[in-house]
Amino acid sequence: MTDESEPGHSESELLKMLLDVRDVPCPVCGYNLRAITSTNCPECGAKLDLRVGSTDLKLGPWLAALLVVGLPLGFLVGAAIIGLAVGIVENNLEDLTIAGGLLIPVIIMAGILAMLIRRRRSIWCWPRWRQLLLPLLLLITSVVITVVVLAVIGMML
Ligand SMILES: [Zn+2]
Repeated sequence: MTDESEPGHSESELLKMLLDVRDVPCPVCGYNLRAITSTNCPECGAKLDLRVGSTDLKLGPWLAALLVVGLPLGFLVGAAIIGLAVGIVENNLEDLTIAGGLLIPVIIMAGILAMLIRRRRSIWCWPRWRQLLLPLLLLITSVVITVVVLAVIGMML
């Protein structure tokens, strides 16, 4: 991150220049860092660096989307592992078939989760209404997949 060969001020000089004129709390302990002389918090010793943030970055809808896909995925993986273990221990082909059948929704949900993580930066740039719609649509998708899986398992038992 720090490139001391760049012309102008180093990152630590820029940090000290900012803190010379601003009241900024230490992100670790909350101590006021105004006019500190090093790049460590004098109160707790935390190493400090200069970053650019954005007040437009609102992660709530994206985290909700991760949750509505991740929770049913965890449930399905758990059910598949239990079905596989029971099928192997009891040498029951029916349980093994159910466990194998759970792989289809697990792969679909894992693919959606991977897409959410891989494309997060483009999702964070979407208009707000679209960001809010995403977890809602994924919740409906997750519920439909889970209900279909439970119905199929119910028919097999
Ligand atoms: Zn501190």
